[in-house]
Amino acid sequence: MTGPLPTHLHYKRGDAPHMDILGGVSIRPDGCWGHTLKPNRKGYVYMDLRGSRKHWLAHRVMYEWIVGPIPKGLVIDHLCRNRGCLNPSHMQPVTIGENVLRGHGASAENSRKTNCLRGHPYDAQNTYVDRAGKRHCRTCNRERQRKS
Ligand SMILES: [Zn+2]
Ligand SMILES: [Zn+2]
Repeated sequence: MTGPLPTHLHYKRGDAPHMDILGGVSIRPDGCWGHTLKPNRKGYVYMDLRGSRKHWLAHRVMYEWIVGPIPKGLVIDHLCRNRGCLNPSHMQPVTIGENVLRGHGASAENSRKTNCLRGHPYDAQNTYVDRAGKRHCRTCNRERQRKS
């Protein structure tokens, strides 16, 4: 699938995808969209746009292409925890603060949260993600309910 960039994209006029990004997408069994473009060391996929020397984050391009503009100042959070994933339904625009709290913003790189404040693991069994995409610790929730 190729086509002109929608007008709501934030890119400068004259920029156009230099390659067919959607054509390189493969849908994995878990629903994530992989890409023939290789992710960088941090796991992000970058792409070039014609007329621009910058490399663009492919998942942001994909989100804006399919869903719509990312509000100014917001960053994309991958709900699936797969930074290379290009499936817009796995993405949610959040503030940078939220993204750091969730443990995978750039500054959280070194202190990635794998546990809740009380030290329970944020693993598949113990983690509950609410509709806003926030993680909750099931053990803490249970203890809180018992006390009240
Ligand atoms: Zn995904
Ligand atoms: Zn906990």
